Parts: sequence; C-alpha cells; structure tokens
Amino acid sequence: MENNYEIIFKNLEDIETLTPKEFKNLDSLDILTLKDLLYYFPRAYDDRTNIKKIEELRGNEYVVLKVQFLSITNPYLPSRVKMTKARATDGTGVIDVVWFQMPYLAKSLKIGEEYILIGQVKAGYNFQMTNPEYKKLTNQKEMEKGEILPIYSTTKNFTQNSLRKILKKNLKEFSNCFQENIPSEIIEKYKILDRKKALKEIHFPENRKFLEEAKRRFAIEELLVLEMGILQNKYLGGDIFERKYNLLDKRELVKKYLKSLNFTLTNAQKKVITEIYKELNEGRFINRLIQGDVGSGKTIVAMTLLLYIVENGYQGVIMAPTEILATQHYLSIKNDFENLGVRTELLTGSVKGKKKEKLLDEIKNGEVKLIIGTHALIEDNVEFKNLGLIVIDEQHRFGVVQRKKLRDKGILSNLLVMSATPIPRSLALSIYGDLDVSIIDELPPGRKPIKTKWINNDADLQKVYNFIAKKLKDGRQAYFIVPLIEDSDKISAKSVEEYKSEIENVFSDRKIGILHGKMKNSEKDQVMQDFKNKKIDILLSTTVVEVGVNVPNASIITIINAERFGLSSLHQLRGRVGRGEHQSYCFLISHSDNDNTKARMRIMEKTNDGFEIAEEDLRLRKAGEIFGTKQSGLSDLKFIDITQDVKTIKMVKEICIEYLNKNNGIIDNEYLLRDIQDKFQETI
Ligand code: ADP
Ligand code: MG
Repeated sequence: MENNYEIIFKNLEDIETLTPKEFKNLDSLDILTLKDLLYYFPRAYDDRTNIKKIEELRGNEYVVLKVQFLSITNPYLPSRVKMTKARATDGTGVIDVVWFQMPYLAKSLKIGEEYILIGQVKAGYNFQMTNPEYKKLTNQKEMEKGEILPIYSTTKNFTQNSLRKILKKNLKEFSNCFQENIPSEIIEKYKILDRKKALKEIHFPENRKFLEEAKRRFAIEELLVLEMGILQNKYLGGDIFERKYNLLDKRELVKKYLKSLNFTLTNAQKKVITEIYKELNEGRFINRLIQGDVGSGKTIVAMTLLLYIVENGYQGVIMAPTEILATQHYLSIKNDFENLGVRTELLTGSVKGKKKEKLLDEIKNGEVKLIIGTHALIEDNVEFKNLGLIVIDEQHRFGVVQRKKLRDKGILSNLLVMSATPIPRSLALSIYGDLDVSIIDELPPGRKPIKTKWINNDADLQKVYNFIAKKLKDGRQAYFIVPLIEDSDKISAKSVEEYKSEIENVFSDRKIGILHGKMKNSEKDQVMQDFKNKKIDILLSTTVVEVGVNVPNASIITIINAERFGLSSLHQLRGRVGRGEHQSYCFLISHSDNDNTKARMRIMEKTNDGFEIAEEDLRLRKAGEIFGTKQSGLSDLKFIDITQDVKTIKMVKEICIEYLNKNNGIIDNEYLLRDIQDKFQETI
C-alpha cells in the first residue's frame, strides 16, 4: 500500500473527491496537493460569540466588531489605486477602515446601520482595518449563532461557502492520512494538540479554546519542520569537519599583510578575527554570521581569515552578490596578495571560453589559492582541490536553504557569512538557527555620523542641488540613486534616463556617469573604476550599488523617490557614503504623503545605527518583508509572526536541540522527515 505521506503530497488531479473545475480553481490558489488543501488555513474566523469592543483593542489582532459607519468616502488619489475610507463606531470608540479597489462600497454601505467587520486591527492614531470582511446585520438572531465559521483568502472562483464545503468534505475523507509529524515525546512533553484533531479544529473549531490550541500546534509544527531541518544539518556537519582538518598554525603572511595596511584594525575587528582563529584551531566546523553595520570594515576581516586559511595550505573563496562588488574585492586585494605569493583570481560570468577552462583547471589542481566571484561560483560546479573557507559577503541575498544546498553538495567546509543588514540580536539567533553570530560593533575611528535629511518640496530640492554643487567644488563626489521601475509604473517615479537630463542640466560643468543593471559587465566595471579614480564626479545609478560598494571620497548620496525603498535598502544605500574622513550627507527625496513612508524618512533622519533601524523596521513591516528572512525560510510561515513570537521560536529551537542530542541527530518520524525534505526542496 502507498504510504500515507505519499498520498498527502500527491497531485490533487488524482483525487476523486474534487471535480475537474474545482481542481483547476484550486490551482489558481496555489493549492496543488492534498497537503496544500488541508493546510489552506482560514485567515480569519467569523465568530459572533466573540465580538470585541473597540475600547478593548490592542492592535495586531484578528477581531470581529459590530459597528455603525459614521462616514464613507472615496478620496481622490493621483494613481490608479481606488480607495474607500470609512470611519465607524461601536459606541466605545472609533475605528478607521480602508478598502482598496472597491469604490462601489461608498454607495452600498449605509451610514447608521449595523455591520459586522472581520479582519486585522492595527494600532495607530485611531485603530485601523484594511480590507476587512464586512457583513450587514439583518436580524438579531444571526448574532446569536454559536458557530465559528472559517474565512479563507479566496478569489472570485470560490465563495466562502464553496471553499468551506470542499474543505469539510476532504477533511472527512482524508484527515486520517495526516498522521502525527511531531515526535510523540515532544507532543506529550509540551502538551500539543494532535495533528488530526488540530486540522479539524483549525478549519471548523468547536470552540475558541480548541481553536487556540490548534493554532499553537501548527505554529510549533511549522517551526519544527524548519528548525529540525536546519539543525540536523548542523549536527551532521560538525561531525564531518572534526575528522577532516589539520592544525592551522602558521600566521606569517597574515602578519605581513596587516602590517602593510595604512590603518590598524579596530578592537571589534580583532575580537572577531581572534574568535575565529580559535575556533579553527580547535578543529571545529565554522558556521558563522558576522554582522557589522555598513562601513564597519567587514572586508578586511574576511580577507585576513582567507589569507590565514591559504597560508595553512587550503584554498579560499569569497562570493559577492554582484559582479561590481566581486570586482571591487578583487581589485582591492589582488596586488597585496600576489606580493605575498598568493595566487588570486576573479571568476565571474564575464570569464568565458578558453580562459575560463584554464582557470577552472588551475582551481582544481590547487594553483589558484583564492577565488573571488559571484554566487555563480558555487552553482557552476567549480571543483576545488582543498577548499578550506567560504566567505559569503552581504548575506541577505543568500539564505539558509542555499547554505544547506552547499553542504549537501559536500563542498561546504568552513563558512563565514557577512551581513550588513543587522537584525535584532534576539531574532538573529533564531532566524539563523544554525549559525553562530559575531558582531563588529564598532566603526573605524574618525568616522562622522552621516547627516540625513528628508526633502519633500522643490524649493528645498533646489537648495540640495546648490549644496551638492559646493561640495563637488571642494573635491567630493556624489551618488544619485533612482529606483528601478516597471514600465507600467512610470507615472509616479523617474527612470534613470529621465533623471539624467535633469542632473545634466543642474550640474552642467560636471562629469556624470551612469550605472544600471542592463549594462554589460565590462561597462559597469569601467564606470565604477572611473568613479573610484575621480574621472567621474556624479554617479547616477540604480540600486546596483546598494551593497558593498566602497568609494570613500564620495560623501553625498541623494535618493530619488525614496518612498520606494524599504528601511534596509535606504540604510544600505546611505552606507555608500560616510566611508572616509569627510562629513557625509544623505538626502531622501520624496513627496509622498503616506504615513508609513513618513515614518521611514523620520527614522532615517533620526539614526545611523543599523540595529536601531532594524528594530524600527520590525515594527513597520510585516514579517515576510524583513530583510534576511525571505531566503531564510521563515518568510512563508503562516502562523508565526517572527516579530511577535520570539518566545515560540526560541522554545522550538530548544525542543529541536534537545531531541537531536538525544537521538544522535537522527529523526525517526517519517512524516516529519518528508515535510523537511519538502520544505527545503520547494524553497531552493
Ligand atoms: P563594510 O563593513 O561595509 O563591508 P568595508 O569593509 O568596505 O565595510 O570597509 C569600509 C572602509 O573602511 C574601507 O575603505 C576600509 O578600507 C576601511 N576600513 C576598514 N577597517 C578599517 C580600520 N580598522 N581603520 C580604518 N579604516 C578601515
Ligand atoms: Mg562590505
């Protein structure tokens, strides 16, 4: 007989309880397997037994309210977005409600009559709901219905009722196939609702208590699949390293190299380097995240450690997210390293044909000691003789899943991941469940905090232009950043080309260079070199310079349509300046009136501290959008809001560690194993 866990991953096409039409429509909701279907959880519940009072609201909760509208309007917006704004009350307070693309509501909702609103409430000046479900209350009886009904996200193909029917039927038919995927000892110890019961309760709750228990269960399950996968991998990885490595006792080249620099390392840099030396020498497997704010000097830390690995007989690799950055790294160390007798090469997409073949040979036979490239480096089946250390620069473009993939390929030795997009400490440990974390919490001496100003009118913009002109005269250089825009999006944002003529007009006596993703790599390199060598005064660029680029003489960055960037991008972009001794400036140009935008601009004006910005970002964004989480596998969690549930995340991590320790890294629940496999497959 087929295993039950094969049935749950089977394509819905083969399931007799669905009509072809239903199957096709489910497909449009991304429901492809039986598991997708039964795990298509309600996004809210219509629970008339639990109506909240506005005065009791806290924010960030799904609630059912009984209200009357005080006003309903369709305010005019210059874009194609149609918005309906309403204010409502239940006698204990007011709430603001917004619907998008439903202009007819302004006519159909009646002021003074009773409605039920169901949705998520956010705290603000008033409480707010966006796109809530609404229902007109026709009689009092309806209020007294005891049933808690699920409300699903849906498209026009399904009404709530038709989805409810499909789920009811298939739950009945198949919930037996969903056997327990949490090891029984964990279920018992942590008093977790069993899977079958929880599935029923999450869709059609008997009462609130069971519903809460079911939610808790799936939150734990979801995290468990992820963290078990990550941690088991670490568990097994550690073992391999201990058997494989020799002592690393030479440190001559490193000393020479550090002496040749025209600065000394900061204490924070030294601390991190020493920490890793020590770990390497203990023969431990290194799997570490180095966090340091923009400009804290992560590159030199990486290069020092790479040199150390190389002088002790291994090869090293450093990977960057863009070719520009890879090339910059290469040029910054090539001479120094070759002077020390360390053969260093750049391997990017532009190396082709015979040249590439030769280089690949030399990497394979160990002649080339240090290889610098983009991520293609490891995807491309490059073979090494004896790879000792991989450094991944700017980690937020490179997630847990890819790391697991590397290790599964067997080419992962020691791994250092460098990230300038800090996340709060408490979260770092949980999100990067398998990584140790070092923090460079100090900037090189003499750095002046960047002065940041939000500009929202043309008169001030003119002043900014005058100011920049003056600084250019003093010999500084400037960046202008323009967001990437889709064609359909042109109305409100300026493209590089459009902006170019404006900049050329304003700064007619200056050399202006342009950089965007569509240019050839050789052209990009040329422009970057010209900027570095001061042949260009102004670099007008898209976000291709967002991470890593280092031109210390550039001291002003102006970001056009700043509302289009999230806090992490703004912080990264701002980090392109303030990298040398000159006082630096960041101007954020945005005419937007949006509250969230205003909040972002003010945070940027207020602080230069990446960690503080990360904390603020958590507050302003939804979990899935937080930098670093997208690829970490945590972004698509349905139940865990990583901004709110740090406690659960920690608890599950401990559960996993305890379990793996007890079972020597072996997971003996087939269902859990299959889920782990599925999770990591789908995200790759
Ligand atoms: P990031 O951490 O953002 O990657 P970089 O490694 O690019 O920062 O370093 C930023 C700049 O600081 C570079 O120009 C680098 O040479 C310089 N730098 C790094 N460490 C020090 C130090 N200890 N003292 C002075 N300057 C330093
Ligand atoms: Mg960097």
